[in-house]
Amino acid sequence: MTKHSGKVYLVGAGPGDPGLVTLRAKELIELAEVLVYDNLANQHLLEWANSDCEKIYVGKEPGRHAVEQDEIENILVGHAEKGRQVVRLKGGDPFVFGRGGEEARRLEVAGIPFEIVPGITAALAAAAYAGISLTHRDYSSAISFITGHENPEKKEFRVDFERFANNGGTLCIYMGMGQLPRIVGDLLTAGQSPGTPVAIVQWATLSKQRSVFGKLETINDIVTEAGVSSPAMIIVGDIVALHKQVSWFEKQDPQTLAEAESRFFDAEKGTAKDQQE
Ligand code: SAH
Repeated sequence: MTKHSGKVYLVGAGPGDPGLVTLRAKELIELAEVLVYDNLANQHLLEWANSDCEKIYVGKEPGRHAVEQDEIENILVGHAEKGRQVVRLKGGDPFVFGRGGEEARRLEVAGIPFEIVPGITAALAAAAYAGISLTHRDYSSAISFITGHENPEKKEFRVDFERFANNGGTLCIYMGMGQLPRIVGDLLTAGQSPGTPVAIVQWATLSKQRSVFGKLETINDIVTEAGVSSPAMIIVGDIVALHKQVSWFEKQDPQTLAEAESRFFDAEKGTAKDQQE
């Protein structure tokens, strides 16, 4: 017999474009009694929730610290113990640099039933929307997902990028913008060619997506000049050079993209959809 009738769902909210959310995620948001979310999940998704759903923001607010991980876990456990259906919405995929593993473990220990719903992780989304094939028979036979920070709350740098140089594959670096010169330096020191192509994709899949392209030897200057910053995906590898042949997303009209972005919420807002009819 379970002690609680509540359940926690750790749900991947995808990279931003609401069209990339799974049907399961949408279904769970609609039935949630409590929704726990932070900045990386597209806030529009909250509009799918019931009007009596309790929405709890646990992200960073200007001038205030983000809610501690322990506290987030207490919130999940506390509401589930009261018998509620709790959805913890996470950007991308919950098990890719999302601390979903820690939350699942805590729920397991507390004896709370839970379910994990995968989401499209930022690396896959950034690559697709910037026209970069992450594998290719001629260029790349492996993909590495790497974090620029071991722990986003800790500023010190612990990942040894030299291990990833010349590994025959594509590198996808999350949370790396604050460490870009160091990452580039490590790769070069380990013998990666200075001419290796690099892409930086900011706000991937949203109408405000911006990407810049360069080489290991030029990318720091390009980023500084363009003013590209977080959240962004850094993609390193020979395959990046082919992006021009398959670039598609940023060729579209930004206004059209912005309108497309809100199409899943039209019914609730009664705006664009009504006007079309
Ligand atoms: N769980 C998330 C990753 C969280 S770590 C996932 O699976 O995608 C946060 C980092 O993800 C950011 O610093 C950035 O590097 C990357 N990221 C998240 N959303 C992004 C987006 N829309 N465009 C580019 N990078 C993104």
